Amino acid sequence: MFAQRLKNLKPYKPGEQPKDREYIKLNANENPYLPSPKIKDALKDIELQKLALYPDPDSHELKKAIAKSLNKTGGVLVPAADQKPLGFEITEDMIFCGNGSDEVLSFVFYAFFDSDKPLVSPEFSYSFYPVYAGYYGINLLKVPLNADFTLNTKAMLDVDSTGMIFANPNAPTGMALSVDEIEAMLKAYPKDKVFVVDEAYTDFSGYTVLPLLKKYENLLVIRTFSKSMSFAGMRLGFAVGAPALIQALTTTKNSFNHFPTDAFCQASAIAACSDIEWYSENCRKIIKTRDAFSKALVDSGWNVLPSKTNFVLVSKDGMPGKAVYEAIKAKGILVRYFDIDVIRDFVRITIGTDEQMEKLLEIIRTI
Ligand SMILES: *Cc1c(COP(=O)(O)O)cnc(C)c1O
Repeated sequence: MFAQRLKNLKPYKPGEQPKDREYIKLNANENPYLPSPKIKDALKDIELQKLALYPDPDSHELKKAIAKSLNKTGGVLVPAADQKPLGFEITEDMIFCGNGSDEVLSFVFYAFFDSDKPLVSPEFSYSFYPVYAGYYGINLLKVPLNADFTLNTKAMLDVDSTGMIFANPNAPTGMALSVDEIEAMLKAYPKDKVFVVDEAYTDFSGYTVLPLLKKYENLLVIRTFSKSMSFAGMRLGFAVGAPALIQALTTTKNSFNHFPTDAFCQASAIAACSDIEWYSENCRKIIKTRDAFSKALVDSGWNVLPSKTNFVLVSKDGMPGKAVYEAIKAKGILVRYFDIDVIRDFVRITIGTDEQMEKLLEIIRTI
């Protein structure tokens, strides 16, 4: 009854959503702040007739809106003082939209990575990469991190690979390579292989590699609306890259699902893009909360990896991650722990509001 291939699937496990009581959810890197009120207006005005018709399969207006907002901000919501300007204009033909960046990533794996050589990724990065590699029969080579949790870029480049993928800032460490470090990798990497940087958390880091697109046509940048744009429930991710790469993703999409972004999604995301200040402000708040929370934890004797994201990976000597997770859950807050060597002693905590983090700090101080 079941196809052979089904046996081999190893599905991704998202953050839990238990229903036994109300929890403060700090386990899925969701944004604690509301999306822009302009979205409500846009949806109020949407004609019901629109829902009876198929949406624009290629999200043209949405891609234009995304391009415009990237050009306006320079590619990052809260840019650091030394983030380089884009230096070119991002155009619609450089953008591909999908049903969450998870779906965009699945098309990326399908379109660019072969099975004859390994696909290179850090040992700890987004845990959907091994899932897609398994799904498509791609051999994923996970390169161990350095002892300080930074990426071992030299070892990653030493592999004769079909492609390269990592998150920057990385998850679940929260740590980032600098734009210069990534450019050094691109310089050393074959120009005919696609080099993917997943910038899901880049808006919280101050930096983006988007300016490098001008020089490196094999660079593909993956973004999501889920984290910094408070849009996880609506499902929207996108890729930015050279038009030839975008065309390959479109061909892949049109061989699988013509309409990954529905009419509601397109209309509300366009409205979101018209209110970038709203999101920049929320991002600024999260960064501030993150830095204050990190400092408070360090002051209480915890180890905190330096985060450039909306979460922190933390540990307390002598306490396994699972025990910390359970103690916090018993008090009504969900965080994430990983049943994996090396990071077994850590929990990953999403940055919520100041109020939520205060509550968590009180709990943490008692365990
Ligand atoms: C959250 C996340 C994604 C997925 O985002 P969606 O757009 O919600 O599918 C992709 N990559 C990384 C590194 C993430 O943390």
